[in-house]
Amino acid sequence: MARRRRKNKVKGVVTAVLVLAAIIAALFFGKDALFGEGGHVSDPVSGGEVQFHFIDVGQGDAALIRTEKGDILIDAGTNSSEEELQAYLDRLGVKELEYAVFTHPHEDHIGGADMILNTYAVKRVVLPDKEHDSKTFERMMDAIEAEKCEVIMATPDKTFKVGELTCTILAPISTAYTELNNYSVVIRADYGDTSVLFTGDAEVDSEAEMLERYRFKGTLDCDILKAGHHGSDTSSSQAFLDAVTPVHAVISVGEGNTYDHPKQEILARYEAMKLEIHRTDKEGSIVFTTTGGEPTRK
Ligand SMILES: [Zn+2]
Repeated sequence: MARRRRKNKVKGVVTAVLVLAAIIAALFFGKDALFGEGGHVSDPVSGGEVQFHFIDVGQGDAALIRTEKGDILIDAGTNSSEEELQAYLDRLGVKELEYAVFTHPHEDHIGGADMILNTYAVKRVVLPDKEHDSKTFERMMDAIEAEKCEVIMATPDKTFKVGELTCTILAPISTAYTELNNYSVVIRADYGDTSVLFTGDAEVDSEAEMLERYRFKGTLDCDILKAGHHGSDTSSSQAFLDAVTPVHAVISVGEGNTYDHPKQEILARYEAMKLEIHRTDKEGSIVFTTTGGEPTRK
């Protein structure tokens, strides 16, 4: 009896020490020490919810759409943010991707593409019809070949679905641009009344083409805009913003980046339109959820 009591006592002390250690860790390192970056714990998508994650990858883009029926990744950050991106996806319990969209071949969008393809079961890859002479691009193409997944070339109006979520490819519209950014695959994601526009680094030339093609169909009208080209003044033309009329603008950007993104002029444009501005450099990863009505920030 005495021994057993002693055992329980030891167990109690161990528990107390563990709880104390967790509290101290949280006090010293913030809640990230317990819950990881962004502060939210992994939870499965349920109850008809869809989540839009704009993942903090520094100066680059990576977004994840989670549905009950599967996940879609749009861009994979830089080479140097691979580990953070993998940790983020692992924390959410991501094992496979229904689609991985790599918007255009710049390193800040496809740097982690090889890691994604080598780590997760990727069923389909969506790419613009544009090659690029870089080691990063080569690594991505080799990884696609090794994964043996279906490759879908992005053409306007092509749609794909995961459960009740529909993605429509809006751009690239032309087949030849001088600026690589304009090859960016632009995707509109619709779930119930929620629409999110993922623009990659599409610049004003691509925006003008989208305006011409979709303006009168209301296709550009969205609730959340992933700000084009990290909030650069090469994108977010007033005419484009007037057609998109977003409530939220999410800027995926690195703190203290050398490009001076986002540009003051663009922030002023957003502010004048009273958009709610969300920035990964200031807030870390940003998550919106919806069950088909208005999207809300998690
Ligand atoms: Zn970029």
